[in-house]
Amino acid sequence: MHVSAIKEVSVKIVNASRELYAHGLVRGTSGNISARIAGTNTFLIKASGVRMKILEPEELVLVDLQGNKIRGELNVSMETPIHAAIYRARKDVQAVAHTHAPTATAFGISKTEILPLQIEMFMLLPNGVPVIPFKAPGSKALAEEVQKKIENYDAVILENHGIITVGSTIEAACNLNEMVEEGAKIQLLAMTLSGRDGMNLAKLKEKFKTENTVE
Ligand SMILES: [Zn+2]
Repeated sequence: MHVSAIKEVSVKIVNASRELYAHGLVRGTSGNISARIAGTNTFLIKASGVRMKILEPEELVLVDLQGNKIRGELNVSMETPIHAAIYRARKDVQAVAHTHAPTATAFGISKTEILPLQIEMFMLLPNGVPVIPFKAPGSKALAEEVQKKIENYDAVILENHGIITVGSTIEAACNLNEMVEEGAKIQLLAMTLSGRDGMNLAKLKEKFKTENTVE
């Protein structure tokens, strides 16, 4: 067992979880972060029913890539099948962050994709953030839908539920989660000011491509 690696990843997940709580992306017992243990077919994930606000390393559970518990006192998070499906589909992904970020979640409820309207968002998520139709939380059907979409996107919205972001590190996955929420807020304000003017992915790609050209 890679005890030191597990300890190191645990501390990172705990710190990142508390940060996501502090930034208002999760409340109560919602949300979870998971991360692979390098060199193994396992990952650590928040246990079910515990709070990211006051998360402790003992409240994480080690599971295999099928989502079966290997080590830990508590029960695995209900969302574990989604995380496992992502790690099976994307070898490059080292961490997954799932939150119920309020603005981005509202976009999911209204079946509105988040577009990369702002340049930083465009650089991170050039294809935007699609909405995956509602499936019961924890279901195999939801995990399968996420697995299909995540092959082409680093962030997805789950209709009537929340958002999922992935990254090559815990920091990257969490940063993307915050950026998706920020992008949703910006899009909401822009829509309030000018409707859906300029909210076309092909046009955005054209605009940012030309404006990004370094002389
Ligand atoms: Zn959730």
